[in-house]
Amino acid sequence: MSIAKNLLQIQERIRRAAERSGRNPQAVRLVAVSKTQPVGAIMAALDAGQRIFGENYVQELMEKAGQVPEPAEWHFIGTLQSNKVKYIASLVTLIHSVDRISLAREINRQWEKAGKVCDILLQVNISGEETKSGTTSSGVIRLAREAASLPHLRICGLMTMPPFFDEAERVRPYFRELRRLAEIIMAEDIPGVSMHELSMGMSGDFEVAVEEGATLVRVGSAIFGERHYHADNVKSGT
Ligand SMILES: *Cc1c(COP(=O)(O)O)cnc(C)c1O
Repeated sequence: MSIAKNLLQIQERIRRAAERSGRNPQAVRLVAVSKTQPVGAIMAALDAGQRIFGENYVQELMEKAGQVPEPAEWHFIGTLQSNKVKYIASLVTLIHSVDRISLAREINRQWEKAGKVCDILLQVNISGEETKSGTTSSGVIRLAREAASLPHLRICGLMTMPPFFDEAERVRPYFRELRRLAEIIMAEDIPGVSMHELSMGMSGDFEVAVEEGATLVRVGSAIFGERHYHADNVKSGT
C-alpha cells in the first residue's frame, strides 16, 4: 500500500470514529509519526496532503526539518532532555511530552530567547509503568499550576501513552482517564491553562482514542509501514 492510500484510509477511519461518537471529524488532527522513516517517505506524505509530522529524536528532527519544506509542521513527541531543548526551539510548533517542571522551565527559557511562546502538552503516565515517561495522574495538576506561571509557554492539553495491548478496546479506560484529568484541570480554572487538546491514540488504537475525545492522534506504522530502526538513535536517545 502506498503512503497516500494509507493516509486516505486513516482519515476515513478517523472520520467514521468521530461520527460514531457524535464528534466533528475536523476536531481531530492526524500527526504522522515519522521517526526512523526516510525523508522520501515524509515527502510522499506531504505531497498527499499530510501537514503535521511527529518526531521523537532531536538530532533526527533537526536533520529532517532542514530537508523537508513548508508547509510541513513538526511536533516533538518523544522523551526530551533539557539540554537538547535549545536545538528544537525554532523548529517545532507543539511539544507533546512535557512531564516535569525543570523541562518546562528550560522550554520557557529557550522560547523567551527566540521571543516566542511555545505550545505544550503535559504528558501523563496513567498506568504508572516504570518504562513510560510522564508525570503521575496526581502530579499533573501541580505541574499545570507551576508551568502556568511561565510566560513563554502555553499549556494546551494532555498527552498519554497507554500500555500496549493486542486488543485496542482495552486501552479505552486509559483514554477516558486522560480526558477526566483534563476536565479536572479545566475545573481548576488556572489562568493561562487551556485543555483543548488531547493527544492519544496510535496505529493500533486511534479509533478508540477518537471515540474518547482525542484531538491529536499520533500514527506511525499504519502510515509508513514498519519502522527502520537506527541503532545509534536508540542508543544515544537523541
Ligand atoms: C512511535 C510513537 C507513536 C506511533 O506509534 P505507531 O504504533 O507506529 O503508530 C506514537 N506516539 C509516540 C510517543 C511514539 O513514540
